[in-house]
Amino acid sequence: MGEFDLIRRHFQRDSGPAASVVLGIGDDCALLQPTPGHQIAVSSDMLVEGRHFFAGAEPEALGHKALAVNLSDLAAMGARPLGFTLALALPQADDAWLTAFARGLFALADRFACPLVGGDTTRGPLNLCITIFGELAPGKALRRDGARAGDDLWVSGRLGEARLALERRLGTAWAQSVGPLPCGDQRLDLPEPRLALGGALAGVAHAAIDISDGLSGDLGHVLAASRVGARVQVDALPLSPELARLPRHHQIDCMVNGGDDYELLFCAPAQARAEITRLAQACRTPVTRIGQIQPEPGLTWVDSEGHVLPLPASSFDHFA
Ligand code: ADP
Ligand code: MG
Repeated sequence: MGEFDLIRRHFQRDSGPAASVVLGIGDDCALLQPTPGHQIAVSSDMLVEGRHFFAGAEPEALGHKALAVNLSDLAAMGARPLGFTLALALPQADDAWLTAFARGLFALADRFACPLVGGDTTRGPLNLCITIFGELAPGKALRRDGARAGDDLWVSGRLGEARLALERRLGTAWAQSVGPLPCGDQRLDLPEPRLALGGALAGVAHAAIDISDGLSGDLGHVLAASRVGARVQVDALPLSPELARLPRHHQIDCMVNGGDDYELLFCAPAQARAEITRLAQACRTPVTRIGQIQPEPGLTWVDSEGHVLPLPASSFDHFA
């Protein structure tokens, strides 16, 4: 199978006309047509074997995750997907691997009406890089620099489950002790991008970020960009039933420092509480209020009695 056969066979699909795609795979460039007057949101995320996933990882799950992490960036911006490109380095053209990878990729792409419009294919160590394009109305983006003192701090879904799944896969003893996880390793392998919620929050929330490297580090990015601080209620953090079976310090470590959850962390004015609850219900995405933005810089973790907890701020950094 040559390079062009591979592209035709696995990635060029007749998926019907998408309103946003004037020209898809097959030319020097794809042509996208955004809604007139809208801005384009662009993001890239790369998954490297041995770095972001284990060698021999299941290809269908990889197809899902490679796109999910990019869709999550659009969600965190409040943008609607237009399409994506896929740059792929493969050690060999393995038909069964590519079929499973494409199945996982397109199942998610179809769910969010986000067509594959181009890419690049080369031989090399397994590496998956997606660039995604979205759109949103001017002034509606959920930027990291929009948090204001007094804003409520919210998080979607539950935190720390991907970290628990990772520790189990690594064979860590404390993580094995919780018994089987009802959804297996899904939270690590098949993250769910919060696009409906992100889109609904555009123009309502002041700032947002998706939690890819851990609450502590990702909240730190919002605080630095917005030049504010935050006080987080550790006992308010959304805990899963599996994590609840662990000693408290492991629960907190997973929820505060665990990466790969791809939940949304957002800041919104207190007057928007009722509206946010309503929007989240309409999107069938649970949300939890976990703290408040403070005028003074710094991140403070407190328990239910208001005692400050000395938590180390450590999130994942590839070059640390
Ligand atoms: P060029 O040489 O102009 O960069 P290529 O020969 O690399 O074009 O690719 C031919 C066409 O196939 C282009 O439209 C490109 O976007 C598309 N393409 C290549 N690799 C992929 C891929 N992995 N997924 C989707 N489209 C791809
Ligand atoms: Mg090329």
